[in-house]
Amino acid sequence: MEITNFESLGLYPEIEKAIKYMGFEEPSLIQAKAIPVMMEGRDLIGQAQTGTGKTAAFGIPLLQKVDPKNKKLQAIVLCPTRELAIQVAEEIRNLAKYMHGIKVVPIYGGQEIVKQIRSLKSGTQIVIGTPGRVMDHMRRKTIKMEEVHTVVLDEADEMLNMGFREDIETILEGVPEERQTALFSATMPKPILEITRKYQKQAEMIKATKKELTVPNIEQFYYEVKPKNKEEVLSRLLDVYTPKLSVIFCNTKKQVDLLVTALLGRGYFAAGLHGDMKQEQRDRVMQGFRSGKTDILVATDVAARGIDVDEVEAVFNYDLPQDDEYYVHRIGRTGRAGRVGRSFSFVSGREVYKLKEIQRYCKTKIYAQKVPSLDDVANTKIENILDDVDGIIENGDLTMMIQAIQNKVNDSDYTAMDIAAAFLKMCIGMADDETEEDGFDFGDTGAEEPGMVRLFINIGKKQKAKPGDIVGALAGESGMPGKLIGTIDMFDKYTFVEVPREYAKEVLMAMKHTKIKGKTIAVEPANQK
Ligand code: ADP
Ligand code: MG
Repeated sequence: MEITNFESLGLYPEIEKAIKYMGFEEPSLIQAKAIPVMMEGRDLIGQAQTGTGKTAAFGIPLLQKVDPKNKKLQAIVLCPTRELAIQVAEEIRNLAKYMHGIKVVPIYGGQEIVKQIRSLKSGTQIVIGTPGRVMDHMRRKTIKMEEVHTVVLDEADEMLNMGFREDIETILEGVPEERQTALFSATMPKPILEITRKYQKQAEMIKATKKELTVPNIEQFYYEVKPKNKEEVLSRLLDVYTPKLSVIFCNTKKQVDLLVTALLGRGYFAAGLHGDMKQEQRDRVMQGFRSGKTDILVATDVAARGIDVDEVEAVFNYDLPQDDEYYVHRIGRTGRAGRVGRSFSFVSGREVYKLKEIQRYCKTKIYAQKVPSLDDVANTKIENILDDVDGIIENGDLTMMIQAIQNKVNDSDYTAMDIAAAFLKMCIGMADDETEEDGFDFGDTGAEEPGMVRLFINIGKKQKAKPGDIVGALAGESGMPGKLIGTIDMFDKYTFVEVPREYAKEVLMAMKHTKIKGKTIAVEPANQK
């Protein structure tokens, strides 16, 4: 049975009133499915993401079941952390706001146990606690289990991850067998199912995955980028894909402002849109964007709500959205009206997991991609310029230019080919090579990651060198933190290793007198791939 409203549950009027007071209009999916099962007194396994209202899903039936006149402990909720214990206790207290004689107490490590004992003594029916501390109280007999009829394991997967399995089992062993056991978890790994089998009776399995979302049919890519490299990677992508219009999403107003300034500084036509702006300002920005005067819009989620412009060809998640659902809203800005659309998401460090969750939730595939190298960018620019050249040759009168080139060829040792190549170089804005740093040539060393320099070391697997030896030598000799070392590629006789550009010089200096595996080595910037 699945309910559609709270009224059909036949709850105490005090609880109904509290639900109204809390502003819940209708049950969430997990509540709709779990509350009736719990109210029948059956054991239950509930799977649902965070933020789906699991607390009320067990809190409401719990309050309906607990006898306010009985001052003995009747229910235990186990939570992984102190914060969650406090939160859950608060939510249940809110739900019990209009009930009389119900006492809910959170207990957790770090709080004075004497104080906890005192509040436990005065008629607590519901304890919300972390497993370690609950077990402590069981041992001290400051928690008595005889009349406990309900146990809830909240965020069970987290509790197992934190190593609480034994504690949980000890607690469950100490509670009367005649009881109701509910378990909630975002994921259902094997150890959870084992606990379920051992400690629950014919538990009903309830899944409340979020509602289906239609993800637009566009190409979705992601890049692993360190925060400090995001600007550079963004510029490269803009240059390689040259989207007609693009929207870049940031999570904060401050980031929007920073990025707009940075993009303008790099010569892009960008404008920002966020909640602090006046309506006229926003209208002006949107008008500029629709007309193509600004081709890059940098926005927060809230400000971008309702933006509907057909020619957006790329959406960038400069920051990953906080809410999975936002991802779908964001990338839905592109690929409209049958046009091409692409989305590019930047992730750094642990955000990769967040991205995995987005893929799972949105049932979509986001492909990992290599950041385009400076060469890739240059090649695209060259292609684009050569495309334009076709039109110029076909449609324009070039007599004057041909004459000028002819003169130059006659007066110098250059061929027309040399001269065309030099012009091309000028056009793509690479005329002054940005190499030569203090006598070291750190031009394009073929590094995979922006901001990194690829170094060549003349030692490899044949000399029994291991990546650890390289890291040890580099970090040990130059004083650069080992974790900053990037990709290490070992071959039989040599190795490539990437280090941050700002450390490259120090590393080269330091390695001059270093031995690895007893061998004096030579290190130099690698050649471009
Ligand atoms: P979970 O435990 O699944 O992560 P919570 O129980 O902490 O989620 O609930 C998340 C938030 O949603 C809380 O602020 C809670 O008060 C609110 N909430 C719960 N149920 C409803 C509902 N039916 N309608 C609106 N808000 C709700
Ligand atoms: Mg919760």
